[in-house]
Amino acid sequence: MATMTGSPHPRRDPRHIDIAAGTAEHEWQADGRLQTLPEIELCHLVPPRSRAVVLAPHPDDETLGCGGLIARLAAMMRDVSVIAVSDGERSHPASSALASRLALVRPAESRAALECLGAAYNELLRAHIPDGHVRRHRAELKTWLLSQLRPTDIVFAPWRLDGHPDHEAVGEVAAELEHEIGCKLVEVPIWGWHWAEPASGSFPWGRAHKLPFDAATEWKKRRALRCYHSQIARDGAHDPVLPAGVLAHFVRPYEVFFL
Ligand SMILES: [Zn+2]
Repeated sequence: MATMTGSPHPRRDPRHIDIAAGTAEHEWQADGRLQTLPEIELCHLVPPRSRAVVLAPHPDDETLGCGGLIARLAAMMRDVSVIAVSDGERSHPASSALASRLALVRPAESRAALECLGAAYNELLRAHIPDGHVRRHRAELKTWLLSQLRPTDIVFAPWRLDGHPDHEAVGEVAAELEHEIGCKLVEVPIWGWHWAEPASGSFPWGRAHKLPFDAATEWKKRRALRCYHSQIARDGAHDPVLPAGVLAHFVRPYEVFFL
């Protein structure tokens, strides 16, 4: 997910850069629309002959946004590829004891999480784009992805208006590739749950569908989320990158995708 170190998006409520001031999960639930979203069947979301490719700007986004999806596909031995666009090496301030080790620690956390999701047999590819600078390196990312993606892939990428510069750049590149090679893009809100408000008009309810989980899948996702120690634990004097209030958006018994 990574901390909001980029420039605040001028179109949006500036509170989205304040980790303590986002929209609480109970506000999403109280709105009522999540409960009545149309459900999508897994076989329609990822048809049998397609591969799911999950683009994670930072190691943890794959589980936050798509952990249940990955677990459900893995339970059927379906082909899933997770691509860590960056290694998430800038999630902590330079003063942190972790800072110099993040590029090793965070991909290892993703591998552990994939194991919890039952997907250890699947690929975890790393594009090594610098954390925080995806937009500057978007041509390089696009070229790299062109060598990886197939026309039959279903590509899960962050929502193009997700509010984090890296997330938005990855979503934009994925949209270009959908147009150029014919793969299908599914957009995934991640930071959007934090900065958006249910009734503000900025959330694309008309495109939103939910993929429900059974209890076993929900349990796998919760276990997988605990693998991201660098993000969920305090680091000395520093608060967690992902505090409980933010994680609350990602432990629902379903995931939401924009189609
Ligand atoms: Zn991220």
